[in-house]
Amino acid sequence: MSESLFADASRRLEKAWKHVVLSDDTIERLKYPKASLIVSIPVRMDDGSLKVFQGYRVRYDDTRGPTKGGIRYHPDVSIDEVTSLAFWMTFKCAVLNLPFGGAKGGITVNPKALSKFELERLSRGYIDAIADFIGPDVDIPAPDVYTNPMIMGWMMDQYSIIRRQLSPAVITGKPITLGGSLGRDTATAMGAFFVVQNLMPRFDQIPEKTTVAVQGFGNAGAVLAQLLSQAGYKVVAVSDSQGGIYARTGLDIPSVRQFKEANRGVKAVYCEGSVCNIVEHEVLTNEELLTLDVDILIPAALENQITAANAPAIQAKYVFEVANGPTTSEADQILEQRGIQVFPDILVNAGGVTVSYFEWVQNRSGLYWTAEEVNQRLKQKMIEETGRIWQITQDRAVSMRTAAYIHGLSRLGEAINAKGTRADYMG
Ligand code: GLU
Repeated sequence: MSESLFADASRRLEKAWKHVVLSDDTIERLKYPKASLIVSIPVRMDDGSLKVFQGYRVRYDDTRGPTKGGIRYHPDVSIDEVTSLAFWMTFKCAVLNLPFGGAKGGITVNPKALSKFELERLSRGYIDAIADFIGPDVDIPAPDVYTNPMIMGWMMDQYSIIRRQLSPAVITGKPITLGGSLGRDTATAMGAFFVVQNLMPRFDQIPEKTTVAVQGFGNAGAVLAQLLSQAGYKVVAVSDSQGGIYARTGLDIPSVRQFKEANRGVKAVYCEGSVCNIVEHEVLTNEELLTLDVDILIPAALENQITAANAPAIQAKYVFEVANGPTTSEADQILEQRGIQVFPDILVNAGGVTVSYFEWVQNRSGLYWTAEEVNQRLKQKMIEETGRIWQITQDRAVSMRTAAYIHGLSRLGEAINAKGTRADYMG
C-alpha cells in the first residue's frame, strides 16, 4: 500500500463529518497533529559500543485535556505510525469522555534483541530526550506494544530525577509498588470483554453458541481469550507473531497461557505436552486464522491485518478490534458491504486508557482504590459509552465505527468551539 497509515486513518473522519454540525475550524484543526517530536537516543551497549536509536512522541490534540497515549517499542515504528496512533488516541479519549487529548510515542527498536540493562538505558534515554514535551498536566505516556510496567517504572523514575520531585502522575501503567493501579494490567482485555458482553445479546448471540478466534496472544489477546472462555464462549483459535493453533472443539486457554509463558510461543504449545491430550489441534498461520469460519474474530495484534486482499475471505460475523487500526479503510468498506459487523478499536480497546485515567486520578489524589472499585468503574464507563454509540447506529443507520467517530467528534467539536474560534475575533 503506497498511501500512508495516517492518510488511511484520517479517512475514517470524513464519513463522520457529515453527521455532525462542526465549524470549519474544527475540521481543519483535526487534520493535523498539534506537535511532533523526533529524537535520537544514544545508548551505550553492553559490549561498549554506542548505538543511536530513533524515538518519537506526537501530541495530536489537547483541547479536551492533557494528551494521553502509550509508547511502542517495535522495529516498524515510524513517525507515520505514531501519528496515526496519536490520532486514534484523541478519538478514543473523547469516546470514553476521559478528560484527555491524544498522543503516542515510540522507538524504532526490536526490544527482544536488547539485554535488560540496554533496555533500561534506552528507556531512560528516551525520557531524557522528551522530558520537556511531557508532564502530568501536559502529556502522559503509558505502555503499548512491547512495553510494560517495568519500563514505565524506569521512565517515571527518570522523569522524577530530571524534575527533582517524585512525579508518579507523569506516566501510567506503572508497577503497583510505584503508584500503578490495580486492574491496569488486565484493563484492555476487561474493557473489550464488557463490550462483547454488552453487544452480543443485541444480536441474539449467546456465548455457548459462539466460536471465537483471537489474533495476538499478548497482554490484551490472551487475557481476553481467557475471560471469554470463562464466560462460556468457545475460543477455537489463538495465534502470536510466530503462528497459531486451532481446535474445533475449543482450546483450554489457561493451559495455552501457561505453555506460552514457559515456552515463549503459542506454537510451542502444540503437541509439546498436556494441552495436546486435552484436544486435537491444528497449526495455522496468522493469515489462516483471520479467515477461519468462526462467529467472532478478534484482531489483537498490530494494524493493517484485515486488508482489501483478505476482507472478501473473512467468514466471521463480528469483528472486535482489540488492536489499534487492524482494519484498513478499504477493508472496512468491503466488510460493511458483506454485512460483517465491525466494532471499532476506539471503543473496544479503550479499557486500557480508561484505567490509565483512573491511575492518574489516584496518583494525584493519593487515595488508592481496590481492584473491585477499578473494575466496577471501568464496567460502568464501557457499558455507558457502548450504549450511546449503539444508539447512534440505530438513529442514523451508520456502522459502529462511523457512530463511534460521530460520538467522539461531537465532544471534540464542542470543546474546540467552547475555547473560542478565530471567527469570533477576525470578523
Ligand atoms: N496503549 C494503550 C492504547 O492504545 C493505552 C494508552 C494509555 O493507557 O494511555 O490505548
